Amino acid sequence: MSDRIPAAFIGHGNPMNTLENNRWTQSWVAFAQSFKKPKAIVAISAHWYTGLSAVTAMESPRTIHDFSGFPQALFDVDYPAKGNPLLALRIRELLSPAYCGLDTDSWGLDHGTWSVLAHMYPDADIPVVQLSIHAGEPYDYHHRLGQALNPLREEGVLVVGSGNVVHNLALADFSLPGSGTDWAKSFDLATTELMTSNPADLGKALSLPEVHLAVPTPEHFLPLAYIAGIAEASHAMPRTLVTGYDLASISMTSYVVE
Ligand code: ZN
Repeated sequence: MSDRIPAAFIGHGNPMNTLENNRWTQSWVAFAQSFKKPKAIVAISAHWYTGLSAVTAMESPRTIHDFSGFPQALFDVDYPAKGNPLLALRIRELLSPAYCGLDTDSWGLDHGTWSVLAHMYPDADIPVVQLSIHAGEPYDYHHRLGQALNPLREEGVLVVGSGNVVHNLALADFSLPGSGTDWAKSFDLATTELMTSNPADLGKALSLPEVHLAVPTPEHFLPLAYIAGIAEASHAMPRTLVTGYDLASISMTSYVVE
């Protein structure tokens, strides 16, 4: 094992994955067990999509239950990881000259983050900060921020993007677990081709013919831009961690940058 920490994009999918044991969650566990425990984690979750780049900077981020219509057991989930205000400052420094706010009392850890980390690090014993996704900026901005985060890998920090390459809730069919439509597969496979051969060009996925179905809104796709940026900055070729589909219109494909 080298001292460099991998980075990953995790397709988090249905929030119920938090409580399940399936081939996706098993791949997340296997990934976490494949390298030494990081000193801290920065998570870029689809679910903190807001008007600026900001990083959580509180000592104890709250667990946010940012969904409705799910069983009480999901609302009962608590992920009591500590924050890391010094890491928040370090991230702000790395992202400069892009502005990055320090959030001391607003956000916390949303389910894009804890649905994944509850499997990877169930003891919640590693400090976690979240970096928001600036909703007003184009793909290239997010890719550049990912490049800027690359030095964290040498500092013992795990960078995790949490979203879904294909995510169309309006077309989700809860009677079709484990399935994907043709357009979902086509978009997902074309994205994998870009991501695993030339991550610098990942943004070209947003010109694919299926993009309006696969990425009706950008927030679940953009965490992947950060991981593509890290891959480009470290001259590393991402590999798929797990592939697959769920509910017809969601891709569960995840990527690792070693
Ligand atoms: Zn989500």
